[in-house]
Amino acid sequence: MAIRNIVKEGDPVLTKICRPVEKFDERLAQLLDDMYETMVKGEGVGIAAPQVGILRRIFVIDIGEGKLEFINPKILKTKGRQEGSEGCLSCPGEFGITERPMYVTVTAQNRNGDHFTINAEGLLAKAICHENDHLDGILFKEHIIRKIDPNELK
Ligand code: ZN
Repeated sequence: MAIRNIVKEGDPVLTKICRPVEKFDERLAQLLDDMYETMVKGEGVGIAAPQVGILRRIFVIDIGEGKLEFINPKILKTKGRQEGSEGCLSCPGEFGITERPMYVTVTAQNRNGDHFTINAEGLLAKAICHENDHLDGILFKEHIIRKIDPNELK
């Protein structure tokens, strides 16, 4: 495993639409392991492939309940709404209150190519929406309804 460089806001790679994953091979497994390690090191709860410069539809999340890997994800359904603070490994030091759905149903593939569907709520639902947006070149700032001074969080 290896720590990869996190692409920062301003890099055009973060504004691109990512392509689906077609090969479920050792290289994909390595990328997933590296993404997870990079996320943990950065103290994030999620990371998407474009954040390490790879334009593929992949993200990894761990909100403290274990690692979840999403390949070629599709959000099937959203319900409700939540407001809360949000930040991004690609936008260090910037936080804002965003509005997100409270519940999402998402289908994706795992590293072996097997399909799965999960119902998520709360923080996990927010993380899924945040990371899924990265795959379409969208940053969390587009969902900010109020900016937060980083000192407010201390
Ligand atoms: Zn992000």
